[in-house]
Amino acid sequence: MAKRTYNNLSLKIQLLKVLYEEKIVYISENHSTLMKVGFYGAARTVTGSCFMIEDNIKIAVDVGMFQGSMEKNNHGNFPFDPASLDAVILTHAHLDHAGLLPKLVKKGFEGVVYATSPTRELVKYMLYDSAKIQEEEAKTQTRRNLRKGLKPVYPVYTHEDVKDCLNLEWKKVEYGKHMNLGDITITLYNSGHVLGSAFVNIQSDLSLTVSGDLGEPGSLAIMDPELPGKTDYLIIESTYGDRNHKSMKESIDELNTAIHETFKKGGNVLIPSFALERTQELLYALRLLQERGDLPDCQIFLDSPLAIDITSVYSAHPELYSKEALMFSDPFRVRGLTYTRDVEESKEINEIDGGAIIIAGSGMCTGGRIKHHLKHNLWREECGVIFVGFQAKGTLGRRIVDGAEKVRIYGEEVAVRAKIYTINGFSSHAGKDFLLEWSRACDPRRAFVVHGEMDISRNLALSLEKQGITAVVPEMRQVAELV
Ligand SMILES: [Zn+2]
Repeated sequence: MAKRTYNNLSLKIQLLKVLYEEKIVYISENHSTLMKVGFYGAARTVTGSCFMIEDNIKIAVDVGMFQGSMEKNNHGNFPFDPASLDAVILTHAHLDHAGLLPKLVKKGFEGVVYATSPTRELVKYMLYDSAKIQEEEAKTQTRRNLRKGLKPVYPVYTHEDVKDCLNLEWKKVEYGKHMNLGDITITLYNSGHVLGSAFVNIQSDLSLTVSGDLGEPGSLAIMDPELPGKTDYLIIESTYGDRNHKSMKESIDELNTAIHETFKKGGNVLIPSFALERTQELLYALRLLQERGDLPDCQIFLDSPLAIDITSVYSAHPELYSKEALMFSDPFRVRGLTYTRDVEESKEINEIDGGAIIIAGSGMCTGGRIKHHLKHNLWREECGVIFVGFQAKGTLGRRIVDGAEKVRIYGEEVAVRAKIYTINGFSSHAGKDFLLEWSRACDPRRAFVVHGEMDISRNLALSLEKQGITAVVPEMRQVAELV
């Protein structure tokens, strides 16, 4: 194809394919690069967020873990030298944004980590929990492998690696406060996604805004996301770039209906839930149902030590609550709620045939106690399973949501006979309309659409283009040179 030059475009892209062949842009080589952005995760996929910003210093925004069908990527080498990095900025504590930080340290990173104070508190629990799961899984798999004459497997990182990572220099950043790193200034703003979550503005000779994960205004427990200021370039998430969520009010009503329907049949309600944010939103939703007299008296179990710890961090930060949540002294306290930390207490829940609400992780049913509860309840048609979060391709949760008639859990075939509910309004991610509104506030020269399945990212990119914002969907490991 002939090389075309657009003089008025100020972005030089190397190896960057744009949405459609006819729109591939080649830029004049005359400009000198001011900043480079490498897309080392969450490019044409949802997990593994990691964007490398190279100016006069080298910063990674997020070092996320790959999940679902991309999980094997966690075991490979980083596509860059971790020792060469000056700093890491964490947008929030979800594992797909912060989960590979211990591995980064293990591989030589010795720089500074910038994060908000709640992110630092939450990430400790998230990383220790992740190491524990990995160590347990590696142990089980090694036992199986050795029996077959195969090699042992190793966790991506261990408890000790997490300790090393938490012993790095961590700088706690307040929303809206400028921080200088060499010649660049970084500022974190509230992204309204989880407690302490942030979007990042990086300012040097040009400005780049990285959305991290954006929340939807009107979420229950925490403050709404801020709108960004003008920026030259934008990296925008697109988890739900092709659709809008139902309102929170409708979602609470759906939750109420699902609980009543299931209890009427005499079954249990299972809610696979992410420990961070979704669980707290759910607890608060149950509290609201209780306040309005809709929730029947019942036993509610929060069967996740991680979610229990995280709820305690939420309870310690009322300054970040929404106005509505502030009206309660503790919005996450629900009548009938039992925290089950011990395995034995968790096992006792298996004896309950009906009338209980069981909230357990993991949110996509890839591990954790929810798998035991599914094994005991999924085959019973009087039970209900309520999915309240995104289910990535390749996960057990996704297979159930997609209508599988039977699934394998711990090597056993289990029929899916329980009623499956999907309530999407509890999502802590912004829907399409807000992503577009937020991007318009940035008014960038160009947007890079990331953190979405390919078709969804493409859908958002096309919508941005319709609004006059040039948008591309970068591939994994591509590098854009910004001028
Ligand atoms: Zn997130």
